[in-house]
Amino acid sequence: MTNSTIKPKIGECCDCPAGSKPQYLTAKRCAFHYKVYRNKISTLKTKDKAEKVRKPIPRVSKKRQKESRQYTIKRLQFLAQPGNQRCFIEGCNNRADTVEHSMGRRGFADQWARDNNISLYLDVRFWRPCCNFHNLELERDSELSEKYQLSKISGKQKIIKR
Ligand SMILES: [Zn+2]
Ligand SMILES: [Zn+2]
Repeated sequence: MTNSTIKPKIGECCDCPAGSKPQYLTAKRCAFHYKVYRNKISTLKTKDKAEKVRKPIPRVSKKRQKESRQYTIKRLQFLAQPGNQRCFIEGCNNRADTVEHSMGRRGFADQWARDNNISLYLDVRFWRPCCNFHNLELERDSELSEKYQLSKISGKQKIIKR
């Protein structure tokens, strides 16, 4: 006799046919059915993992991807035009490498564009050729932004609510 306090459970396996003789049980199953049970679980887990790898949730919607491709092409065409070679900011004669979205793309302008089925992102009418420096400045400097990001809706300067 050993001192072991762990007594193996003996009883009827839940997967064996009813009335089978009592056996040592693990997770209510005989050795054979326990093995079957474990295999089934690991197969399910592997399947689950494989499914997750195969079908990653797209981070960018199809529509957005399409727009992004269109944008890349339009942008190159826009910046290649003779009239768009220089930055649109007064007194700046830097080469225009970027596109400034003169309407902005948020808030009121965004709502207006939605209502009129216009893409502020893709509509070249609202684009301005801009140098790298001023593109960043317009994002950082709200005064500069107010001066140059004109509202094409009212024809007046953009009103920024603070
Ligand atoms: Zn069994
Ligand atoms: Zn500039």
